[in-house]
Amino acid sequence: WKTPIVVAVSGAAGQISNHLLFKIASGEVYGADQPIILNLLGSERSKEALEGVAMELEDSLYPLLRQVNIGIDPLKIFKDAEWALLIGAKPRGPGMERSDLLEMNGQIFVEQGKALNEVANKTCKVCVVGNPCNTNALIAMENAPNLDRKNFHALTRLDENRAKCQLALKAGVFYDTVSNVTIWGNHSTTQVPDFVNAKIDGKKAVEVIGDDAWLEEEFTPTIQTRGGALIKKWGRSSAASTAVSIADAIKSLVTPTPEGDWFSTAVSTDGNPYGIAEGIVFSMPCRSKGDGSYEIVEGLEINDWLREKIKASEEELTKEADCVSHLTGK
Ligand code: NDP
Repeated sequence: WKTPIVVAVSGAAGQISNHLLFKIASGEVYGADQPIILNLLGSERSKEALEGVAMELEDSLYPLLRQVNIGIDPLKIFKDAEWALLIGAKPRGPGMERSDLLEMNGQIFVEQGKALNEVANKTCKVCVVGNPCNTNALIAMENAPNLDRKNFHALTRLDENRAKCQLALKAGVFYDTVSNVTIWGNHSTTQVPDFVNAKIDGKKAVEVIGDDAWLEEEFTPTIQTRGGALIKKWGRSSAASTAVSIADAIKSLVTPTPEGDWFSTAVSTDGNPYGIAEGIVFSMPCRSKGDGSYEIVEGLEINDWLREKIKASEEELTKEADCVSHLTGK
C-alpha cells in the first residue's frame, strides 16, 4: 500500500459531496492502490448531517478509506491536506446581486485560503467548485502565499464534459471520439466552449459537423446555459454530473494526459501564452505529466470568433476581481 493521502472537502454535507465522497473512497479517483484519509469540513448548520455522512462512509467498508475526520474549523480539517476540494458556498438567493454573492462567498474563501496557507501540505492542490468558482479560487490563492499559485484550480470540467456530449450527439458518434475541447474563461454564461480547436475522431469538429450556424448559435449558448436549464428541470443544480467532473478533473492531474489531447481547468493567468489579463483565474487548455502539476497548452488557433468571446469572459472576470480587491489585497 502507498502512504495514505489527506483529502479535505468543504461543503461535505452538500449534494455534490454526497456523490463525490463515495467515488473518492472507492479508489476510482486516486487509484486502486492509494489509501485515503477524508477530512470533511462543515459548519454549525451541517454538524449533524456531517456525522451522518461519516456514518455512511464508514458503513461502506471501503478498503482504501483509512480515516474520516469531521469538523467545522478549517485550521483542523485542512491540516496536512494534499488535496483540498472546496465545494461549500452560499447559493445565490432571490434578489441577490452577483456582487453580494461575491462578497459573501469571498469571506469564506479568505478564511479557507488563510487556513490552507497555515496548515495544509505545501504541495496541496486546491480545486474550487463553490460558485462563483473562478473568483473564489482567486481569493483563496491570494490568501495562501505559501502555496504555489499553480496549484489552484476552479472547476470547468463539467462544462467541458457537457460540450463533448453535445458535439458527439450532433455528429452521431460516441463521446469518446471527441477530444481537444477547451472551455475558455469563467464558469458562467460568458464561458467559451471552443469548437474551433475541438476534434472528432481526430478530425476538426467544424469539418465533421459542417454547420457553423449550429456551432455558433445553438451549441455555444446551450453549453453556456446548461447549468440553468438543468435547474429548471430538476429544481436543483447538477450534483451527480458535477461530482463525476470533479473526479475527472483530479484524474487528469494524477494521470498523464493522452498524447495530443488536453483538458480544461481554470488556473492563474500569470504568464499565460494567450495574452489574457494577468491576476485572474481563467479556464484554459492544460496538460499534465500525471504528477499533480500541469502546463498550459500553447498554440491553439484563436480566430476572430473566439477572440471576441474570450475577451468578454476576460472582462467579466477582471470586473469580478475588482469587486473583491479588498479580499485579495490587490
Ligand atoms: P448544497 O446546497 O448541497 O451545499 C453545499 C454546501 O455549501 C452545504 O453543505 C453548506 O455547507 C454550504 N453552504 C450552504 N449554504 C451556505 C451559506 N449560507 N454559507 C456558507 N456555506 C453554505 O450545494 P451543492 O453541493 O449542490 O453545490 C455546491 C456549490 O457548487 C455551489 O456553490 C454550486 O453553485 C457549485 N457548483 C459548481 C459547479 C461547477 O461546475 N463549478 C457545478 C455545480 C455546482 P455547510 O453547511 O457545511 O457549511
